[in-house]
Amino acid sequence: MRIEERYAHILDWFRQHMPSAESELRYDNPYQLLVAVILSAQCTDKRVNMTTPALFDRFPTPQHMAEADPEEIYPYIKSISYPNNKAKNLSGMARMLVSEFGGQVPSDIDRLQRLPGVGRKTANVVAIVAFHQSAMPVDTHVFRVSDRLGLTTGAKTPLQTEMQLTARIPAEDLPAAHHWLILHGRYVCTARKPHCEACGLKPWCRYFARSEAKSSRPQRQSQ
Ligand code: SF4
Repeated sequence: MRIEERYAHILDWFRQHMPSAESELRYDNPYQLLVAVILSAQCTDKRVNMTTPALFDRFPTPQHMAEADPEEIYPYIKSISYPNNKAKNLSGMARMLVSEFGGQVPSDIDRLQRLPGVGRKTANVVAIVAFHQSAMPVDTHVFRVSDRLGLTTGAKTPLQTEMQLTARIPAEDLPAAHHWLILHGRYVCTARKPHCEACGLKPWCRYFARSEAKSSRPQRQSQ
C-alpha cells in the first residue's frame, strides 16, 4: 500500500469514528492547562484530574503560584509521580510567567519551551489545545501507534516521528490527529497487547498485516 493511501484511509477513519477527540485533562484557561500538562508527565490524566481542583483553588493564577515555594506546592501534588521535581518546576514556571510574560501563558512554542518543566511535547500540547495551533506533540502513544500503523517508518525519536507526521497530515487536522492517536493508543492499540480484533484500522495497519502474514506462513514440520 502506498503511504499516501495509508494516510488517507486512516485519517478518514478517524474523522468518521472520533469526530470530537479532545484532551482528557480538565482545565479552564491556558494557565490551568499548562499546569495540568506539566503534571501529566509519566502520570495518568485521571490522576492529574483528581489533583488539580484543590491545586487550582489554592493557586488560582500564575501570580498566586509564583509567590509559593516548591514546599508549599508539594502537598497538593504529592500523589502524582515525581512530586518534588514537579513542585520545583511549577514554582519556577509561575515565576517566569510573571516576571517575563506579564502573567500570561505565551502561545509561541519557542517561548513556552523556556519555561521550567516545559519540553517540546508539553509546549506543543499547550499550543494546539489552548491556542489552536497546528503542531504534533509526540508522546509514547503517538510514537507507538504511528509506527504500528505505518504512518512513520524507522523513526527513532519523538522528533523524527513529529517530522514525519507533520509532513503528511494536513495542518488543519494536526490538533485532532494528535488526540486520535493518543486515545487510540490508550484504549485500543495498547502497548503490551494491541486489541487488533476490535480495531477498525486493521485494513490499513502495517503491524496487523505483518502479524497476519507471519501467522499464515506454513509451520516447518519437525522430522
Ligand atoms: S490493528 Fe492492531 S496494531 Fe494496528 S492500530 Fe489497530 S490495534 Fe494497533
